[in-house]
Amino acid sequence: MKKQKLQNLLKFRILSFGILILFWNCQTEDYDQNSLNDIQEIKNTFSLDNFSDNNIKDNLIVHWNSFNSQKSSDKKSTLYQFNTDFKLNTKIENKNLKLFSTFKILASKNNTGAWNISLIKLVTNNKNDLEDVFYFSTNTFSGTISHYNLKGEPQKIEGYENGILVSEFFDTNKTLFSKRPLKTKNDGDNGSSNGGGGSFVLISVRNFTDWYKVYPDGTKEYTHTAYNGTTYEYIYVPSGSNYNTNYTKNTPQYYNSTPPTYNSNVDDKIDDTQLTGKAKCIYDKLTQSNSNLFKETIGQFIDDPKYNLTLTIGQCSTSDDACTNTVNLATTGEIIIKIEDNNTNPLQMAQYILHEAIHAELYRFVSRYESGIDPNNRPRLFQLFKYYSELYNIGDIQHIYMTEKYITPIASALRKLDGSKYPLDYYKAFAWDGLRVWDASNLLNVEMDSKYEDYRRIVIENTTISCD
Ligand SMILES: [Zn+2]
Repeated sequence: MKKQKLQNLLKFRILSFGILILFWNCQTEDYDQNSLNDIQEIKNTFSLDNFSDNNIKDNLIVHWNSFNSQKSSDKKSTLYQFNTDFKLNTKIENKNLKLFSTFKILASKNNTGAWNISLIKLVTNNKNDLEDVFYFSTNTFSGTISHYNLKGEPQKIEGYENGILVSEFFDTNKTLFSKRPLKTKNDGDNGSSNGGGGSFVLISVRNFTDWYKVYPDGTKEYTHTAYNGTTYEYIYVPSGSNYNTNYTKNTPQYYNSTPPTYNSNVDDKIDDTQLTGKAKCIYDKLTQSNSNLFKETIGQFIDDPKYNLTLTIGQCSTSDDACTNTVNLATTGEIIIKIEDNNTNPLQMAQYILHEAIHAELYRFVSRYESGIDPNNRPRLFQLFKYYSELYNIGDIQHIYMTEKYITPIASALRKLDGSKYPLDYYKAFAWDGLRVWDASNLLNVEMDSKYEDYRRIVIENTTISCD
């Protein structure tokens, strides 16, 4: 990208607020009336009322008189950039790295005379880079710029190295962004695209609130920390650098008398923070791969406020691989997927997770259905429950249903995870694991089964998924 010359109308940062007022007043005549009209129009048009992220909606303050502008090359329109403040901490960190971010508002007039207004989020590990950066003068900025419309939907993500735009990433799956990954314009199955040698990497951020009690004399005392869920975002990582993908964000908050209760406003209902090792690695890859099956199972928990999904490592009493526990479903709405941390191959591990994810989703669905408000319909599942209720437990009736409905989705999700190396049938042996004895409709015959097993060996030998 050609670096553009900055037209800096107002060097806000170097001025104290008091001086600014004077400066603004005595400089007013120097602005052409068009600029002042423009800013008034932008202010009137701008609103975060429909912005999906409440954290941004509630805590972003726009400084309408701290801005920069640049004329388009035909001099017919002007791009404005407004500075903002954020009321809460925006720093995320782990033991190796701190990432800082700031927001800006961009506004420009389109052909019809309407204002296009967007919010951009700039993320970098160099705090100083955020001081002087403007969208049309990125100076030495190295990091990520994410663009959102005023509904909070991501429009694109850009990677910068030393002020140069080196990589771009477009969203095609707006609703799941920031919680779940999106696809790239280049449709890289691994969810990343390349441009400047670096790549976009999905990071997870565990959000915590550190609560402090404020006494009448003003002294503050730390009392407790609350976990507010995990969010996901893409950041640009230059080639050769090694960014850890797990971060935490601690935001201090204060209260006077009553300690705040559990924040039920958590929008991410999935807790994957207890996953470790190979299971964690594969789970992250499944998240990045974002197959339809993943979205339709794990993804269902994101927007259903009544249910929580916890993924954890542990021993299952009923199997050697993985299990789904619903003892808390009726009371707290929690479903727990437990994965045994064994040293199986990556695709097998992915199959464990997907298989349990289907159980979790079916439990959630039935529970929702029984409370009478699920608009979806899975009549066959209820038919099976009715038919087999005397014979089998709920989990095994789900297995029968899975043989009929989920073999192809599981195989397809594993194929996507494996970079679509082989045809779908090559992944079907994995999909049938745990289900062979439940093949009530005789969908898998002996010849197919042995053919699929041959395919399985080929897939395992040649997969490039690495989680060791
Ligand atoms: Zn099962």
